[in-house]
Amino acid sequence: MNAFGTVKSRKVIQQLEDAGHEAVFVGGSIRDYLLGKNASDIDIATSASPDEVKSVFPHTIDVGIAHGTVLVMMDHEPIEVTTYRTESTYTDHRRPDEVRFVKSLKEDLQRRDFTINALALTLEGELVDPFGGREDLEKRMIRSVGNASDRFEEDALRMVRAVRFSSVLGFEIEESTLKAINGNAESIRHVSVERIKVEMDKLWMGTEPQKALSYIVESNLSKHLPKFPEDVQLLSACAPFTSALQGWSALLLSGHFTAIEIANAYKLSNREKDFLSAVQKAFKNRQAGRFTTEHYYRFDLEVLIATEKLWQAIHPSLLGITEEEIYEKHKELPIKSRDDLKVDGRDLMAWTGQRGGRWLGEWMDKIEEAVLYRKCPNDMEKIKEWFHNEYERQE
Ligand code: ATP
Ligand code: MG
Repeated sequence: MNAFGTVKSRKVIQQLEDAGHEAVFVGGSIRDYLLGKNASDIDIATSASPDEVKSVFPHTIDVGIAHGTVLVMMDHEPIEVTTYRTESTYTDHRRPDEVRFVKSLKEDLQRRDFTINALALTLEGELVDPFGGREDLEKRMIRSVGNASDRFEEDALRMVRAVRFSSVLGFEIEESTLKAINGNAESIRHVSVERIKVEMDKLWMGTEPQKALSYIVESNLSKHLPKFPEDVQLLSACAPFTSALQGWSALLLSGHFTAIEIANAYKLSNREKDFLSAVQKAFKNRQAGRFTTEHYYRFDLEVLIATEKLWQAIHPSLLGITEEEIYEKHKELPIKSRDDLKVDGRDLMAWTGQRGGRWLGEWMDKIEEAVLYRKCPNDMEKIKEWFHNEYERQE
């Protein structure tokens, strides 16, 4: 394998070492590297205190100094460097009350959630793996570092992280770890939905969301996650998903929760909320029959695709609409939105010599419809002709 890390990140470690400190690559990027996957963001851990890190490099930015993280600007690129630390005394199943900086890498790795995430790599390429992470990677297994139940009691979010890794990596959750999720599932209620949402977004985008979904049910997490169905059969039938929004939309399939309820429960953004509401609406239309010109025009392509996915999950034996067909039908539309019209309100005012008012919007609607349904080509002169005919007829 090639040397791990970018030239700049290796330089950061080298300079920390030259200053007499220990520094290594850590976390998820090592896991992904060993799996031969494109590494996510590269994290560096060091025995140097945040102040010591700042004294080694001329340009640093404090991003989370209380948690020991300093952003080192290496040749204009920001590299995250975090001091070895432990987290202690969790009183509320979430954030630690106190972060303590430590000198030993092993202690730092010990606070991490799963063995496959508790790996470090030195600049020389030596793997530091005190908890059997490499073996678990080979076994394709998600296993807590230490006593699983204690670890979930400390931070209940780790339970959702376990299932999201099962989706992203397609791994099994080790038996005692799964059992501990079962025993602690209720405490997920103490975790902020913002943190849950980050993990769920990744879960939806994983290669095996079905696996995660069945773990969520098996472990009873489904009973305690907000607006989550206890029967995930239909949800699974939609998987895999090509966007997180498709996953969120699939929650509509339970039929128990509305788009707004789901969006509010997970604090989805306004854009995400609008997407779910549109899918809900499009789905009602789809239940009544195949999409019409009106639907291809009014709904976003991605909304139609997500909607069709839901519809097909419910009607596995019926012939659905393929994605190609949806793209094709959308492409064939004479206009994709009102902005595509070759005329606007000012033209109408000029043609009639009238001032703006409600009539203007009404006539723009009629023109839009005429062009959309090919009663009139989208051409300035043709629209003018069509308009005069219709306008005179109605005056
Ligand atoms: P991804 O590739 O999706 O970013 P990741 O493993 O890098 O996965 P992050 O959420 O970026 O996950 O976290 C980085 C590392 O920090 C993890 O690999 C793990 O070692 C540690 N970590 C993150 N969240 C927790 C947590 N709640 N409890 C313990 N350790 C955690
Ligand atoms: Mg990461």
